Amino acid sequence: MSAPLDGRTRVAVQLGKAASWLSRAAGRGSGAIIGGRVALALEPRALERLTSGRRVILVTGTNGKTTTTRMITEALGARGEIATNATGANMPDGHVAALMNKPKAGYAVLEVDEMHLDQVAEQAHPAMLVLLNLSRDQLDRVGEIRTVEQRIRKVVEANPNAVVVANADDPFIVSAAQSAKDVEWVAMGSSWRGDSASCPRCGHHIDTSTTEWHCTCGLRRPTPGWTFDGDTVTAPDGTKLELNLQLPGAFNRGNAAVALATAYRQGVRFQDIVMKLNQVSSVDGRYRDVNVNGRKARLLLAKNPASWLASLDLISDGDRPMVLVVNSREADGFDVSWLWDVHFEQLLGRRVVVAGGRAADLSVRLKYADVPHTVVKDSVAAIQSLPPGDVDVLANYTAFRDLVAKVGSEK
Ligand SMILES: [Zn+2]
Repeated sequence: MSAPLDGRTRVAVQLGKAASWLSRAAGRGSGAIIGGRVALALEPRALERLTSGRRVILVTGTNGKTTTTRMITEALGARGEIATNATGANMPDGHVAALMNKPKAGYAVLEVDEMHLDQVAEQAHPAMLVLLNLSRDQLDRVGEIRTVEQRIRKVVEANPNAVVVANADDPFIVSAAQSAKDVEWVAMGSSWRGDSASCPRCGHHIDTSTTEWHCTCGLRRPTPGWTFDGDTVTAPDGTKLELNLQLPGAFNRGNAAVALATAYRQGVRFQDIVMKLNQVSSVDGRYRDVNVNGRKARLLLAKNPASWLASLDLISDGDRPMVLVVNSREADGFDVSWLWDVHFEQLLGRRVVVAGGRAADLSVRLKYADVPHTVVKDSVAAIQSLPPGDVDVLANYTAFRDLVAKVGSEK
């Protein structure tokens, strides 16, 4: 149970809620962030006050944190009410908003932007830290990864009693987590090693020629306690658990393995966790099923190179036609040279349509991959150019957002 709030925080929360209500009433979105921002302006330690007495789990990483946060929240559902920032507002104002809306929740499961983990952990005193991966959001941000790794490492060192759940396949995460006293290593898998070629510890080249990656300085893949093979997750005690997820792809099976490890450490029974994970079907803004004139389209957001790689792995699920949509507005990053790092060759044999503001670049890339395709610049028209039936649509940030805005309400 959360601790009672002091007078100042109580006022800050009330004014934050009032601001949130006003923002909603003025038709400016959900107002949640505004409320959090107001409360923080009045009480800079609001996050500490609001997490006091609650069991806090912080989830961070470049990819999969919204999905994993949702999965952990579902898996812990039986343990009582949970405060969580389900909308992906993953900075302190979003956390404060989530916490003040659930004052009685004994648990807080918070997705945290990797650049803000230190700031949040300093106030939230986490019981668990869930560390997924560190890869580049955009090529132009590549220099930040080392800094972020060092900051996460400091968080691990500053919270020696926190149980850490960490990805054994990501050298940057291993470097950040390896000093933890109590760590659950999960073999989440990683097809993206572009950022990890040089060691976060010594700068030398990491040998990633086998799964057991290692560096001459001694940094190496720890032996994971949690592994998965297809739909089967193996726990540290050897228990085999069969997943039947509604969310597609190996990437989500990795996220599910992390959620399993996390909820298990909170005392939830295996079979209860698996049942809950299997029920998760859509995650705010990341997965969406829509109907477009008789085409049942499964929309997937892939906002950076790593998530394009991870999302393309789901094509092994079948031979549905595929629409790829890439924009390069400010929120996407203007540079689309990452298209050359994604293995579009895997699409060979599928019917492919390319769309979006950078359809022409995508088309050139697919020509080099020898993947036949058509170009239909408008994304809705691209879906409609296919025969009625199931379609997979993979889109980057603004492309996904625009599509949901246009067809998201049609079920
Ligand atoms: Zn090294």
